[in-house]
Amino acid sequence: MDKLIFQKKEWSLTNEQVGICEKANKLASKNFARRAFKYDTEASFPTENYEDLFSSGLLGICVPKKYGGFGADLKTYMLAASEIGRYCGATALTFNMHVSSCLWTSFLVDDLKLSKKLKDEHEALRKEHYRRIINEGKVYAQPFSEGSAAAAGFKAFGTTALKVSNGWLVNGKKIFASLSGHADFYGVLCSAIKSKSDVGSRKNTTYLAVPATAEGVSVEGSWDPLGMRGTVSRTLIFRDVFVSENEKLMPAGVYPQAAKRWPHMFMTLTPAYIGIAQAAFDFTVKYLRGEVSGVVPVKRRMYPTKQLSVAQMKIILEQTKAIWFQAISEAGPDPTKESLMRAYVAQYTVMENSNKLAQLAIRTCGGQAMLKSLPLERLYRDSRCGSLMLPWTAELCLDKLGKSTLYEANEKDEPLS
Ligand SMILES: Cc1cc2nc3c(=O)[nH]c(=O)nc-3n(C[C@H](O)[C@H](O)[C@H](O)COP(=O)(O)OP(=O)(O)OC[C@H]3O[C@@H](n4cnc5c(N)ncnc54)[C@H](O)[C@@H]3O)c2cc1C
Repeated sequence: MDKLIFQKKEWSLTNEQVGICEKANKLASKNFARRAFKYDTEASFPTENYEDLFSSGLLGICVPKKYGGFGADLKTYMLAASEIGRYCGATALTFNMHVSSCLWTSFLVDDLKLSKKLKDEHEALRKEHYRRIINEGKVYAQPFSEGSAAAAGFKAFGTTALKVSNGWLVNGKKIFASLSGHADFYGVLCSAIKSKSDVGSRKNTTYLAVPATAEGVSVEGSWDPLGMRGTVSRTLIFRDVFVSENEKLMPAGVYPQAAKRWPHMFMTLTPAYIGIAQAAFDFTVKYLRGEVSGVVPVKRRMYPTKQLSVAQMKIILEQTKAIWFQAISEAGPDPTKESLMRAYVAQYTVMENSNKLAQLAIRTCGGQAMLKSLPLERLYRDSRCGSLMLPWTAELCLDKLGKSTLYEANEKDEPLS
């Protein structure tokens, strides 16, 4: 087994965290690594990996222990998912979509101020979602992008949920919906409306589990992207889809509170890219030592330029790991302004640096290392997708950081004359 990215003693991990990370590492290094090439080439969904995630119990990593899951908190999940990202980025990225539906509905909701009635109602509903995951291996997706400013958090979702007797009628379109055609339920963020003429508002955002088999759900378009090809992020269409009242993933109106009070929830796409960063570095070291299997064992480590490049990569990797570990250690409700800014810094750093490391790895190892038969060129392509992920794209992180650094809450400038 490869050494864990974050070691117990150095990073003060608990025995439980190490145990879950080792489980993820064993599974991914043994099974996911050898399947990654196929999923990437075919742009096909890692179905076999999901069967393994179910049989190993990892599918329920963030399901509370009382419902049969591992009960992992955000930090523990992030550490374990980074081990998966090392061997198959697309599996780690889609796993995030599934796990978010458990994270958001479990301790994240528990940290919010809800009335006893809402808490009881949520408890009764989430039990069923967890039962499906733990007992039946059901997989949940997380489609919220619509190609408008909604996914970035600036506008109401255009997908609507019209209240009808015993449930909702969902209409709309989600783009880049990872796991489309493969998830059992789509955890859809939409605007709750009372009549067809209502205009949705962010305040009325609701979060529903739409069964993939429900009438009116369709998956459209092709999927042939640069990277993260195994995510199969096609377009989802909902046309008058009836969704039962029992499929609520959060009580009505709670999502906006969660997004505001628990912003670290948007960092959960990063572990896939921490894993890629580590994998690009590991590959480079093995390659320069002449230890990559399937490649003529030529050593290149004696050239001073290679030593300098690898040193540069080591510095970037350690900087990335350090800020990320700090940010995920701070995750919790109501972070201070500094803590939130550190989360933006961490998100930006991971997404940009995983691609930087993959680029450096290709330059350092050279032409023979970028053949399709080796994982490096896939790491390079997959890593390019990280900074595009909403709501915290690299650009939006810069935007938020610049504003937060220069302005305190409620500060405004006089209009320029
Ligand atoms: C491999 C992959 C898998 C994905 N899986 C999922 C998934 O499962 N679920 C899901 O919901 N989404 C998913 N996405 C979508 C992703 O989160 C983004 O929504 C999508 O990449 C955005 O597309 P775009 O860049 O065309 O967006 P646009 O909305 O056109 O934005 C372009 C850029 O402009 C900037 N921008 C956007 N809005 C604003 C604003 N209001 N102010 C200032 N700047 C702004 C951002 O930096 C953004 O990158 C996935 C994307 C990829 C690449």
